[in-house]
Amino acid sequence: MQQLQKAVKGIDCQNFINGQYIEAPEERKFLNINPATEEVIGWVAEATQQEVDQAVKAAKAALKGEWSQYTVKQRSQIIRKIGDLILENVEELAALEALDTGKPYELALEMDIKRAAHNFHFFADYVTSLGNEAYHQDNIALHYSITRPVGVVAMINPWNLPLLLLTWKLAPCLAAGSTAVMKPAELTPMTATKLAALCKEAGVPDGVVNVVHGFGSDSAGAFLSEHPQVDAITFTGETRTGTVIMKAAAPTLKKVSFELGGKNPSIIFADSDIDEVVETTLHSSFRNQGQVCLCASRIYVERSIMDIFLDRFTARTKELVIGDPFDSNTNIGSVVGKEHYEKVMHYIDIAKEEGGTILTGGKRPDHLEKGYFIEPTIIVGLPEDSRCIKEEIFGPVVTVMPFDTEEEVIAYANDTTYGLGATIWTNDLRRAHRVAGQIEAGIVWVNTWYLRDLRTPFGGMKHSGIGREGGAHSFEFYCELSNVTIKL
Ligand code: NAD
Repeated sequence: MQQLQKAVKGIDCQNFINGQYIEAPEERKFLNINPATEEVIGWVAEATQQEVDQAVKAAKAALKGEWSQYTVKQRSQIIRKIGDLILENVEELAALEALDTGKPYELALEMDIKRAAHNFHFFADYVTSLGNEAYHQDNIALHYSITRPVGVVAMINPWNLPLLLLTWKLAPCLAAGSTAVMKPAELTPMTATKLAALCKEAGVPDGVVNVVHGFGSDSAGAFLSEHPQVDAITFTGETRTGTVIMKAAAPTLKKVSFELGGKNPSIIFADSDIDEVVETTLHSSFRNQGQVCLCASRIYVERSIMDIFLDRFTARTKELVIGDPFDSNTNIGSVVGKEHYEKVMHYIDIAKEEGGTILTGGKRPDHLEKGYFIEPTIIVGLPEDSRCIKEEIFGPVVTVMPFDTEEEVIAYANDTTYGLGATIWTNDLRRAHRVAGQIEAGIVWVNTWYLRDLRTPFGGMKHSGIGREGGAHSFEFYCELSNVTIKL
């Protein structure tokens, strides 16, 4: 695999507008850094306001061009082809994702790139089975609905699962016949850049898919959010950024779909299968260096099994191999960059100040001199109002707290502004349903974590999001509905 790393270098990232990569002047280029090595892997062209405008206008024009004439079947075939092309390029894309994010290559391959292809394959099939509502009203009237594309959709993306989350938006957008201007995160621009070419190769007409690079405020993110000809914004990222985008979108009343931050609880009852709990909790805590919005960073354990859980969970955490993302033995890569490394380390300092005890981790690994690596960290003994329990850290850091009763742990789980995911571990069927129904989260897993079916609604409540995507829910966002009533 280290040979692969040598073979796959980073790519320079140009903006892709109306079917073409656009040359960028030197002064608009910023450097792209591999967080695992701190080396420069390429440059990224920051889009000007004029370029964002061109991309939006190209997407607007494409809505009326040949794209609008395509049948559902033709769109489905193109979308399927994009998925196929992702699989044909799976190793290169996984290597680019690993270089950009510092995540293990194997993880990028399985969790990011293959699942990105699956997003296209899933929506290629799903769209062909969609029907419309119709009501026959007592021989008085016939009502039926017509769907049409919502229009130009701005897709503003985070850095943690760059291609996966972007394709989760792009596949249903294309299936619905809408057009896209995508803005990848400034830290992870490479796979989106490559995807643009794959879309073109798959037969997506020029202007339907555009990519603009840059930052948030006073850059591509803000230019897109404010643009009067953008009809809808789908945004995944921090809750704070969501509020800024919502303000920018308000004057032109854009439709929004927001997937925001989380502080997800994992609730472990004493009657659960401890082996399964420990193994899955390793993933729900530290997969992708804890940088998955659905990672369960607050672990609550019924007091009678707290010691046994902690012994086993800590022992398994210490076995995780941290280091070179291109070494197949590696479980944990680097976090995404310097700023994020400092943020996570700052929270570890706060935990110490708040009286927490670090059972393992809490520092960069001794054997790694370069790169933004943080050991997987388990913290106990914090007060329930600790900042480390209330605020999203989004790194390889979990807190573990005991509880005594069902009511108590439900109150802990819900005592947060977030409401994205939750995991419950119990073999008591009634309790599983009872607790699941009381947890304020958009996604609740029982005796598992991250098990997805793309037909199910995905999204958060409270400050974790607005709206749901997945299956038919995605089409509610990427389509407009008209109702036609005929008097009989
Ligand atoms: P972020 O909010 O900092 O950035 C996300 C994107 O928004 C980037 O492309 C950025 O350039 C852009 N942006 C920043 N400021 C902007 C502005 N003023 N106007 C327009 N665009 C702007 O988030 P991040 O640090 O990249 O990602 C991590 C966050 O994403 C975490 O909070 C995580 O929980 C969340 N997340 C949520 C989900 C979910 O499904 N709910 C999934 C993945 C990540």
